[in-house]
Parts: sequence; C-alpha cells; structure tokens
Amino acid sequence: MATHKILLLPGDGIGTEIAAAARKVIAWFDSRAGGVFEIEEDVVGGAAYDAHGVAITDAAMDLAQASDAVLFGAVGGPKWASVPYEVRPEAGLLRLRKDLGLFANLRPAICYPALADASSLKREVVEGLDILIVRELTGGVYFGEPKEIRDLGNGQKRGIDTQVYDTYEIERIARVAFDLARTRSNKVSSSEKHNVMKSGVLWKEVVTAVHAREYGDVALDHILADNCGMQLVRWPKQFDVIVCDNLFGDMLSDVAAMLTGSLGMLPSAALGATDPATGKRKAMYEPVHGSAPDIAGTGAANPIAMIASFAMALRYSFGMVDEANLLDKAIAAALDTGARTRDIGGGDNSVGTEAMTATILAALD
Ligand code: ATP
Ligand code: MG
Repeated sequence: MATHKILLLPGDGIGTEIAAAARKVIAWFDSRAGGVFEIEEDVVGGAAYDAHGVAITDAAMDLAQASDAVLFGAVGGPKWASVPYEVRPEAGLLRLRKDLGLFANLRPAICYPALADASSLKREVVEGLDILIVRELTGGVYFGEPKEIRDLGNGQKRGIDTQVYDTYEIERIARVAFDLARTRSNKVSSSEKHNVMKSGVLWKEVVTAVHAREYGDVALDHILADNCGMQLVRWPKQFDVIVCDNLFGDMLSDVAAMLTGSLGMLPSAALGATDPATGKRKAMYEPVHGSAPDIAGTGAANPIAMIASFAMALRYSFGMVDEANLLDKAIAAALDTGARTRDIGGGDNSVGTEAMTATILAALD
C-alpha cells in the first residue's frame, strides 16, 4: 500500500495544541486505512530558534522536501519579538514556501450551516457558501524589484514597490485554478485590474489563452478586483473558484474569511509544481490563523482550521477524496451537535480544543 509521508511542524503558541488535535485525526484515518501514513515531526519558528538558533533547520527542510505534505501549525509570539530579523519565527514559514516552490495558495471559504448566523452577513447570503480563492503566492508586488525607500535629497523620500508577473507565472497559477474548478462547479473567475495595471493586462491575456488552449470545458469570467471585493460581500455564492495575484489574493481571501464567521475555522493549502517524473507535488497545509498568544496554553483553541487543513491534504496530496469528504462532514456534524469553542460563539458553554476534537472523532466513528 502506498505510504503518504507527512511532516508535522506544530510551531509555537496554540500551534502545539492544534497539532495534538491533528495527530489524533491522522491516527483515526491511519488505523482505518491500515497504516498509510508515515509521520515525521520537527520544530519550527520560535521553538526552532530556542532549540537551534534558527527559524527552521536544514534537517527540517530536508524532511519537508522528502514529505508528500507538510502540516504546519503556527509560529511566533511576544517571546521572540526581539530576535534578529533573519531568524524571526516567520522566517521559517517563508523559507518553507520559498524552498518548496509553493506558488499557489488555496483558501477555501466554507460556511457551515450551524455557523451561518456567526457571519457578519445575513444567513441567506452565506448559508451553504463554498468558494475557493486561488492566490498566486511567490510573485507580484511583494517581491518585484526595485523595492526600496529612496531618499530624494530635498527632505522627500519615495517608497517604491514593483508589480511584476511573467507569462509562466500566470500560466501555472491559471492551470491550478482550472484543474481545481474541474473537481468542483467548473467555473473560474479571474480577478485583476487590467484597466489600470499592465500586469493586469498580461494576466487577463494569459488566463484567456490558457483557457482557450486547455480548458474549454470550464466556464471563465473576468472581474475587476475592486468589483470582486464588492461582489464577495454582496452575493458570494455567485463564485466557485477565484484566481488572482498575490496582493489582490491577500485582500480578497481575508474578505472571504469574514463571510464564514471565524479565523479559527479556516484552512489553507500552498502547492508547488507537479514533478513530471513522480506525478507528485510539494505541498504545505496550515490554518489561516496565527499562534494566538492571548489564548495559548489555555486549551481553548479551536482545532477546526488545523483539522480542515488535514482534510485538504487528504484531498489534494493523498488522493483520498472520499476520506476528505468524510472529515469535512464530521466537522459539520460536530458543529451540529452544538459544540462551540469560544471563538465561534461558545460563550460560557464553550468547549476546549480536546473536547471539540473528541466531538469530531465521535462524528467520524
Ligand atoms: P499572525 O500575525 O501570526 O497571523 P495575528 O495577530 O493575525 O497572528 P492570530 O494569532 O491569528 O493573530 O489571532 C487573532 C485573534 O484570533 C486572537 O485573539 C486569537 O486568540 C484568535 N484566534 C486565532 N486562532 C484561533 C483559534 N484557532 N481558536 C480560537 N481563537 C483563535
Ligand atoms: Mg494574521
């Protein structure tokens, strides 16, 4: 039987608590499938800095390179606020993304029926919502050169960032979006601002060409990024897959996040290129939220974002789609029992990380 190699990197703060929840869920699927998972574990972020003086070791990077999927908790916290910039906890995450070549960030926004009233929007607008934002992660204005603050010498300074996209970068993210759309509702909305940006003109041109050449069966429309933000809060169910650049993706995925109620619910994936020799692709799965230092150590963290991130690994890295669907259903069923952590409105009746995890495991059983 094929073995799937998982590298678990809990990190800091609630990262270690939600990683414990993930271990239990992985073990449930492992025993059901007869031992298909091989799990390695290492430190990252502040924990790696404390142990090794770096945000991630070369040895951990080797494990990541050898894995089929990295499951990442969260990094950072006030304890490491003054460590040198190059070894700050977040540098571990950035090195993983860069060295694994993770150029496609997948951020689903799913509104579970039991939580539809926790959204900032009306129930009818968000109930049953299931959209996927595909954000380009390694290019665009976050990395383009020149990038500097220039002293103009007359008491003035100039802040410069440069948006750069090459054809190949747009082609590969477009393919990820079209391939994913084929496994969903077969519809892609490509979002840019070609009316004011040259990179937007190229983006629209390249996505259109990839579509015409390779994905005639998928519906494609183009939407300006500002309008896309507006439509996301007006009637989000009009979308299935939204593909966009790094900057617009950053913003649009946070807008979409608020539709669903809570940060503690949201998983994500970052995918690299498929190796033609093995057919496998590098991948990392992580909750959207951070290390939540304010609740770390209290056992109150919501484990759902982490558990749903493992569901994405089942779906996108291990080809275990039925199992992924089962786990997503178990999360919904656990919420249907009324179990709530504090972040999703549990109030005085809130359950903690362990009880929420146990409720999900019971739903799986
Ligand atoms: P980062 O910079 O690492 O993204 P952040 O400042 O955005 O961190 P988070 O760590 O994500 O912040 O936390 C933001 C708020 O949401 C905090 O009040 C935190 O307690 C809460 N929060 C985040 N994740 C969870 C979770 N899984 N369960 C419960 N509350 C959470
Ligand atoms: Mg944050």
